[in-house]
Amino acid sequence: MIEKKHLVCIGCPMSCPLELTIVDGEIREITGNSCKRGEDYARQEYTAPSRMVSTTITCTSGLWPRLPVKTATAVPKDKVIAIVRILHAIEIEAPVQMGQIILDNIADTGVAVTATRSLPQVVTIGRG
Ligand code: SF4
Repeated sequence: MIEKKHLVCIGCPMSCPLELTIVDGEIREITGNSCKRGEDYARQEYTAPSRMVSTTITCTSGLWPRLPVKTATAVPKDKVIAIVRILHAIEIEAPVQMGQIILDNIADTGVAVTATRSLPQVVTIGRG
């Protein structure tokens, strides 16, 4: 069976339209890419799609209530919703350093989630 699959490359702002020709479930041809990255992206997206995940989590006693975090590497696309649910359910206490590991092996992906900025603790100065 021959099938055509269309993707848009996300490798750079040119957004090349990619066409994959699939024969019996195997990629036979990729057209529309302007560079090798487009071909690599098409193969990855067809065989094992993955995404980086960026979101915010609740941070108690921090200068701001939310801490931005991201996965250290791309994770399988079908794990993204589970990962976001886990991250939205947790709380962390300030202070946090940029790059600090917030969770390791999230959703059994083997990938860590790290803070993408530092978040200082709020210091309350009492009245004497
Ligand atoms: S194929 Fe190459 S030039 Fe085209 S969008 Fe992808 S990375 Fe950019």
